[in-house]
Amino acid sequence: MDDIVVIGAGQAGASLVAKLRKLGFEGKITLIGEEPALPYERPPLSKAYLMGDVGQERLYLRPASFYQENNIEVITGQPVDMIDRGGKEVILGDRRIPYDKLALTTGSIPRKLPAAIGGDLPGVFTVRTLADVDAMEPLFREGKRALVVGGGYIGLEAAAVARKSGMEVTVVEMADRILQRVASPETSDYFRALHTEKGVDIREGTGLQKLVGGDHVTGAVLSHGEELPVDVVIVGIGIAPAIALAEACELVIENGIRTDAQGRTSDEDIWSAGDCASFPYKGGRIRLESVQNAIDQAECVAENMLGAGKEYVPYPWFWSDQYDCKLQIAGLSTGYDRIVTRGSGWATSFWYFKGDQFLAVDSMNDARSYMVGKRLLEMGKNPDPEAIANPETELKTLLKA
Ligand code: NAP
Repeated sequence: MDDIVVIGAGQAGASLVAKLRKLGFEGKITLIGEEPALPYERPPLSKAYLMGDVGQERLYLRPASFYQENNIEVITGQPVDMIDRGGKEVILGDRRIPYDKLALTTGSIPRKLPAAIGGDLPGVFTVRTLADVDAMEPLFREGKRALVVGGGYIGLEAAAVARKSGMEVTVVEMADRILQRVASPETSDYFRALHTEKGVDIREGTGLQKLVGGDHVTGAVLSHGEELPVDVVIVGIGIAPAIALAEACELVIENGIRTDAQGRTSDEDIWSAGDCASFPYKGGRIRLESVQNAIDQAECVAENMLGAGKEYVPYPWFWSDQYDCKLQIAGLSTGYDRIVTRGSGWATSFWYFKGDQFLAVDSMNDARSYMVGKRLLEMGKNPDPEAIANPETELKTLLKA
């Protein structure tokens, strides 16, 4: 095998090509990205980068010299037009790039508000790329009024930055509670209280009828008819897997690009990893939208492209920074029937169980709970809930129990 092409130069694509070289692959590697920049970290976009605390140069995953020294051709700023599976070529502009094996790490695309309700007005932003944040940052100024649509991580992280910048902030969340997709009611309560205390107006069970304005957004009409004046709108209403290329070349799609446990798609020479890939998990299928998954799955796929035959087993973890609060999550709490609380107030953790089985921990400002919980999950251990709830318990002892 000589040529590997990777489409998608985000975290997953960058991790995949680096791993291929680390494993000793000596053939040609081409990494193709649509955005003009070299692969960069996205998590700071809705946090420190939006706040202006770190510059663009700090976001690059690796310097340009890394790709040169490792003989990896990186093509940026050029969307792939199509994949010719029969001819085993990737076509972009007037270039045709042959491959022996191809990986799709195309990531995901933020959902947008429809243009019919003002979703395309100037001053309305999604938060996915450097360009998005560079465009909205000048509007993050003291006294400006921000409307955040969607109370997920994007929305709440952006709300925190806006408040820290001295803006007036309203969050509308269509679901009954913020963070509904990703966290328990207890964790939602914690973050609602945090944002409310910081002066954010959180409206749950509230959608948006329309945005209004001329050459810039000036107002929003909420689902109950109330009209708010706004200067900037941040839309964090979820993402959809970027499957257009895969669909066009007729790979099997099932809530993302369908792969087997090793990351191979319905074409034996095409692989996929990261936000766009749906893979077998606990008898079903899952797509994980996280940096951890982008890195670990891409590295596993790199091994498998070289013949390792390894199943990918995710150990999910996530984090979010809002104001000075650090949320760290290990595991997936889906299907839990019991929550055990450790601590209270600022430093609290929620431990999720299904019967005796330990599933996940959400920890706020309690790094020890997160680290021990993560380790327990990796070890496949089910800690005693009473011991967790007891503040006298030295958590590390649970690892030896
Ligand atoms: P998300 O987690 O899916 O949250 C979007 C929220 O917006 C959902 O609660 C959704 O409710 C709500 N919503 C949808 N349409 C709405 C509307 N028209 N009006 C009001 N609310 C609406 O997605 P996200 O926050 O946009 O984040 C995008 C991706 O980036 C996710 O994968 C996220 O995990 C990731 N991310 C992660 C971090 C982190 O780990 N710290 C930080 C930033 C982003 P329904 O569920 O009812 O539709």
